[in-house]
Amino acid sequence: MSSPSPSVPAGSSAAGADPEPGGSDPKPGGSDAEGTRRHLLSVGELGAEGIEEVLRVSDAFAEVGRRAIPKVPALRGRTVVTLFAEQSTRTRLSFETAAKRLSADVMTFSIDSSSVKKGESLRDTVETVAAMGVDAFVVRHPAAGAAAAVARWVDASVVNAGDGWHEHPTQALLDCYTVREALAARHGRPLTEAGVECFAGLRVGVVGDVRHSRVARSLVLALGALGSEVTLVAPGSLLPPSTEGWPVARVCYELDAVLPELDVCYLLRLQTERGTGAFLPSVREYSARYGLSARRAARLPETALVMHPGPMNRGVEIADDVAELPRTVVLRQVSNGVAVRMAVLFMLLGSPGSVAGFPPSSGPTGA
Ligand code: ASP
Repeated sequence: MSSPSPSVPAGSSAAGADPEPGGSDPKPGGSDAEGTRRHLLSVGELGAEGIEEVLRVSDAFAEVGRRAIPKVPALRGRTVVTLFAEQSTRTRLSFETAAKRLSADVMTFSIDSSSVKKGESLRDTVETVAAMGVDAFVVRHPAAGAAAAVARWVDASVVNAGDGWHEHPTQALLDCYTVREALAARHGRPLTEAGVECFAGLRVGVVGDVRHSRVARSLVLALGALGSEVTLVAPGSLLPPSTEGWPVARVCYELDAVLPELDVCYLLRLQTERGTGAFLPSVREYSARYGLSARRAARLPETALVMHPGPMNRGVEIADDVAELPRTVVLRQVSNGVAVRMAVLFMLLGSPGSVAGFPPSSGPTGA
């Protein structure tokens, strides 16, 4: 079933790893011999065209989400397993909601309550679950490269739901969806007519713990592919040792200096579980220099968006009152996550060819 590869121990840490964006995925990315996409391991595999396609398919599923009964039979008879070896609220629930709205059967698998705790390797456990007949694994794991390893072990499709510091592709896709939605609304354009032109030259500041953040890696790759102008803003200790290979316009150590020039201020959570504390004099000092206070938010252009992948540490990365501003679109990010994950699951598992020419008004309903 799968080629030999080292087992990834459940709960192993990515500490010490310093993945390049898109750096540790198997090649060829997520496609099989026919070129059909089977996995989503890195957002970099998609390129601008692939990202645009996901956003367009997401439009159709966002419409499904607004219906009285937000459910379509698109994946009836398919089985999706969520395999999470790290804490998660929104990502796990979002994938499970997405799969259920597509009428897939959903199996929930927690490493904490599994045979991994009895000493079974992750590979044996994954192969055991796969033997029950699984169409897709949604994998979250603290080790960079874990989702790619699962993709080598099983015949099912694999979606990377966050692997250590490495990547979190669906987060980047839902972030792009949210930016596109906000910009289309601002220009009075129907979303279904909006492409990805709005990203060209968009000035995005990615602020905070870039070093340990898979969200930053995926987001920067996606925005780079779409032609945005990304500035990394962080203390030197929270930047990766090298930004070579990162499609960023610049790196800046002072948040105050860049605020007036941003269209989007994207705040990252301090990854304390990945040892961030050792890279900072104190959380209070971090917050004083990089936290988005009301005073700082007022220096942003009037139309700038504030984003955060959640969970937010209020009073650290973002002040309470800033989290409540209309320009802060954190809850839109969460809502859009369901539609984007429906799109991803549908594009991986839906009938071949059903995405090409997928009409928003009839696609998911009729599928
Ligand atoms: N929820 C996101 C992730 O799992 C962001 C974060 O936790 O900082 O990576």
